[in-house]
Amino acid sequence: MRSAADYLGSLQDGRTVYYRGERVRDITSHPVLKIPVQHSARLFSLRDTDSLRKELVVTDRQLGDISGFFLIPTSSSDLLYRSKIIALSTRASGGVFNITQVIGSDALFALSIVAKRMAKESAERVQSLWRRAAKEDLALAVAQTDVKGDRSKRPHEQRERDMYLRVVERRSDGIVVRGAKAHTTQSITSNEIVVLPSRSLTAADRDYAVAFSVPANAKGLKLIVRPMLEIEGLPTQKDAPVSSRDAEAESLTIFDDVFVPADRVFLDGDWKLAGELANLFALYHRFTAISYRPVTCDLYIGAARLAAKSNGITEKSHVKDALLDMVLYREYMEMAATAACHASRLDSISGVAIPNELYTNLGKLNSNAAFHEFISRLVDIAGGLVSTLPGSEDLDNKEESEYILKYLEGSEETLGDRYRIMRLVRELVGGPFTGYMLGWMTHAEGSVQASKIAMLRAYDFTGAEELAVRAAGIGAVNEREGKTKRGQADRAKSE
Ligand SMILES: Cc1cc2nc3c(=O)[nH]c(=O)nc-3n(C[C@H](O)[C@H](O)[C@H](O)COP(=O)(O)OP(=O)(O)OC[C@H]3O[C@@H](n4cnc5c(N)ncnc54)[C@H](O)[C@@H]3O)c2cc1C
Repeated sequence: MRSAADYLGSLQDGRTVYYRGERVRDITSHPVLKIPVQHSARLFSLRDTDSLRKELVVTDRQLGDISGFFLIPTSSSDLLYRSKIIALSTRASGGVFNITQVIGSDALFALSIVAKRMAKESAERVQSLWRRAAKEDLALAVAQTDVKGDRSKRPHEQRERDMYLRVVERRSDGIVVRGAKAHTTQSITSNEIVVLPSRSLTAADRDYAVAFSVPANAKGLKLIVRPMLEIEGLPTQKDAPVSSRDAEAESLTIFDDVFVPADRVFLDGDWKLAGELANLFALYHRFTAISYRPVTCDLYIGAARLAAKSNGITEKSHVKDALLDMVLYREYMEMAATAACHASRLDSISGVAIPNELYTNLGKLNSNAAFHEFISRLVDIAGGLVSTLPGSEDLDNKEESEYILKYLEGSEETLGDRYRIMRLVRELVGGPFTGYMLGWMTHAEGSVQASKIAMLRAYDFTGAEELAVRAAGIGAVNEREGKTKRGQADRAKSE
């Protein structure tokens, strides 16, 4: 298995990364991008600690020791284990999700299930990606979300044909693909990028029904990273205690006629399976979401507790209510993740365990829809300093610091610590990180609407309808019962 140093070395492979209008030749030494790099490297260095290694490494019968993230779940307890290590690695990354081997394995599980319904060679190619990822301990990104253009139109109906990634050429040795995927998290710190379709398709969308994997330095692949305002806007990183240590970088991922060798193509043209693959990946990835998000919430809840202490208001009833609201939001997700494991099902062909769709989306829906309310509780408890706290440079300047420390002292319980507490709170709810997290918690791993659609698809209305039909005295149930009663009456008459 790889060390963090091995992993860092693997990133210097000539990949095409742009940041703020400039090509970045070495992301490991770039002043901003080195932070997401170190964040991913952390996943490998965690295993240097014996107790964490025990949790994060499993033994595969064929491959020996592999990362636990690549354990293909075949039972509820495997899913519980997965949820646990996702939470554990998030906690070890300061409450920031560490996607490095998680999203790629989400894709592998979905591909493993769908590939069994495809030609034998597709299943072998997926198996070979799994073997490579597990054996070489790879960091995998997943590019699923297409840029989509006009959302009301299907891929083939778009004015510009490249709004969804598509196959532009089929050769005897592979395919050439063109298009762009949006928001690809940690693409720049990955070894390979797994590409999946983002929606269900029709026969006219055949060229968009494509899934494959490419190395991050593939020719024609261009990674345009978002400005990481939460870190770069700050002259010192003290004002970003969370994201100056752990942060993820998303890219607009351009496929400028990228050649994909045949042995890396999992799906090409089978439009009927594209939707199933897209939905299955989304399900695993939402299960991931409700496994890491409770830990991210802990960071906010912890900050709220500290802010309450430093304001001397822990015992006030509205503060208790606010904290309870935050706890409810968190626990709802954790409960949904646990229920999704216990109520999981086994795919009948592949034997892979699938988290319960209803519970997963229920947890995810709440998580997306109520994040702004969750953080508003912390804003309320902390007070206006979330917007007006003087900067770290002022604290470092002797002429100013005595005033800042004296006048922003707060309660005795946190004497000497209030400035740092409020600085953390400001990063969480009063700065560029806040806006980034609002977008993240509302959209990442699928939008509000996507979870609603999935829940309606998963919910079995039969029992509810039967009860109502019976109560209303209408329809098939009553007809059946009526017939039975009539039959009984007829029999009784003839006896
Ligand atoms: C921080 C972050 C990280 C992410 N990481 C990844 C990643 O690693 N890999 C990846 O592939 N994706 C990633 N995503 C993408 C994420 O899954 C999407 O943002 C999400 O699915 C929403 O898609 P969108 O951004 O295109 O917004 P849209 O889907 O365009 O949503 C905008 C609005 O349009 C509505 N809408 C869209 N289509 C329709 C329609 N047909 N009919 C009616 N209403 C519609 C939506 O409901 C919503 O209200 C990430 C996103 C974020 C914010």
